[in-house]
Amino acid sequence: MLILFFLLPTNICLSAEVDEDKLRAERMMLFHKMETLTHVPWYIYAGIDQYERSIRRSQKDIPREKGAIAIYIPPEKWAGGANPNKADTSANSISFFGGIGLDGNGDGKAVITDDEDLLYTIGHFLQSYGTTIEDIRIGLWDYYHRDQAVRTIISNSAVYRTFETLKLEKHAFPVPLHANYSYRSTWGDRRGWGGLRIHEGTDIFASYGVAVKSTSYGTVETKGWNRYGGWRIGIRDIQGNYHYYAHLNGFEKGIEKDSVVQPGQVIGYVGSSGYGPKGTAGKFPPHLHYGIYKDNGRTEWSYDPYPSLRLWERQERSRKK
Ligand SMILES: [Zn+2]
Repeated sequence: MLILFFLLPTNICLSAEVDEDKLRAERMMLFHKMETLTHVPWYIYAGIDQYERSIRRSQKDIPREKGAIAIYIPPEKWAGGANPNKADTSANSISFFGGIGLDGNGDGKAVITDDEDLLYTIGHFLQSYGTTIEDIRIGLWDYYHRDQAVRTIISNSAVYRTFETLKLEKHAFPVPLHANYSYRSTWGDRRGWGGLRIHEGTDIFASYGVAVKSTSYGTVETKGWNRYGGWRIGIRDIQGNYHYYAHLNGFEKGIEKDSVVQPGQVIGYVGSSGYGPKGTAGKFPPHLHYGIYKDNGRTEWSYDPYPSLRLWERQERSRKK
């Protein structure tokens, strides 16, 4: 397999793309099958699987998934804390020892790496709380004990439900390419206002009122005033990244907390708000401050958005040709 890849370097991209499409089709089929079995909607499964995939990609101590589904259930949770056999596949003895692992595909075994067993185990757990979004929110909290996990999964689910596809990879540049704008890499620069901080983002300088667009598929997690960022919007994307748009002049009509957005959708307008109490503006030239924060399942940290901005700018330019 390795040798093949060396011999066919030009085909890697194409075949990876085909493989990804196949995987997505398989996942979608599994989600619908589980919806039929548990009445937990397919997009909830999609939201959970995608949340777990992002976490898995950023945690070195979690093994890579074997199938199409990225949900990871630790062996002690699957088999039960008191179970002497952490690799137990008997649903009866797993249940006896307080484990959650179940047989979802009817082969008589509860296998921790089997896609259907994994999905059914989570689905069955959630189903016991009920199947409205509110019920599912409570079930997810009891499963993860982490606010951000619940928020991200509900957000992912809303996005999948809206677009009815798992292929949501497109990105957009946050201001129109035809506008007059400029930006350079300033992530990590020192900033003085409000105590010594580092600059957690990229400043895109543009005129007052230039449209600010979502770079990703996601939902609005925060909207309103904060003393550093002024009028700002925070969008959670389906990779678990939080996109922070600050110093806005105003928000686009209809953009509210929990709104589902897509790349290129206008969310607000460039301004100079911030660095003081609500309404403060004009303390610096108008610009969009754009930051990205990554959630690794345990903490969130800022990373430099500059390389992504360059990439999305290039991609958008070539789409327009
Ligand atoms: Zn800035």
